[in-house]
Amino acid sequence: MYYIVLDLEWNQPVSRDTHAYQKYGNRLTSEIIQFGAVKLDQNKRIIDSFESMVQPQCYKKLHPHVKRLTSITQQAIDNAPRFPQVAEAFRQWCGKDGTYVFLTWGYDDMPALESNLAFHHLDTSWINRWYNLQVIFNQQEGTDSNQKALSAVIEYYQLEQDDQFHDALNDARYTGLIAGKLDLEQGFAQYKELVNPLIVGIRGFDPPLEQIRKQGIPNKKLIYTLPAVSTFLCPECKMTLHTGIRWVHQSGDKYLFLAQCPEHGKFLLRLRIMKGTGETFMIYRTAERSTPEMETEYHIREQRELERAELLKAKRAAKEEQQKDTIQTEQSSDDPSDPEQP
Ligand SMILES: [Zn+2]
Repeated sequence: MYYIVLDLEWNQPVSRDTHAYQKYGNRLTSEIIQFGAVKLDQNKRIIDSFESMVQPQCYKKLHPHVKRLTSITQQAIDNAPRFPQVAEAFRQWCGKDGTYVFLTWGYDDMPALESNLAFHHLDTSWINRWYNLQVIFNQQEGTDSNQKALSAVIEYYQLEQDDQFHDALNDARYTGLIAGKLDLEQGFAQYKELVNPLIVGIRGFDPPLEQIRKQGIPNKKLIYTLPAVSTFLCPECKMTLHTGIRWVHQSGDKYLFLAQCPEHGKFLLRLRIMKGTGETFMIYRTAERSTPEMETEYHIREQRELERAELLKAKRAAKEEQQKDTIQTEQSSDDPSDPEQP
């Protein structure tokens, strides 16, 4: 088993008014422009590295903030290979699927990689297993649960910091050094209890029990009528458990549903609705075994959604009432004794 420590740098649209943002903004907002990774052996020694710039296809102009933060230049990305080529080279460098897990510093890199792969219609199944080392660091060093800058943790361990931060390969190497200080096996074993079960994202750290993908859905309304979205069969006994699923909004393009088999327990379903090519939509759905923590998070959102729906209903009723009043007031506006008159 290898550990692949990955760090990515990405570019953003310079402004929401740009043509590029209007064209791509609903499909991709963080466009990867640099890969940096190191491979660790079982003893957590760095045995190999991977680095590449990527030429952006959507947001070609380097955002001033990204330029300031990283050492990346416009020229460097202009002359770099494109994402599909770099992603394929990286995948090959990682090795055979199932022989490695990804380690990152923070929650952002793997979802960014996933959305860039999806944007280019590339396979995402090989980035299944990953762990945010911040979580393991916080637990094992007994610090608070806040996110910590890589530089602060390098300082904490009194490791040498000769290389500039916010360079993908340097950051991956620094993260690799931190991995060397942690008990990864123990961290992995406890990981599920340490993270907010819903933050981890659609894929999480365990491969899901079930994955469904559909592309080329011609319109959004149609999505919820698709059996792939609206029904659920127990992954164990294949019994149809739910039809006409009412999804609960998680955040952004993510939705959740808690399914239950009388025989095999509860499953958390996750749904993502994304823009596909042209005017079409695509969906990605997974099922995993739910945990009590997930169920709590789910019910909080479900409750919030119910309350919001109630509020909306009340508002609508009040508005109708008001309209009725206005009509009545207009009819009786010659009556100066009307107490409702402002
Ligand atoms: Zn079942």
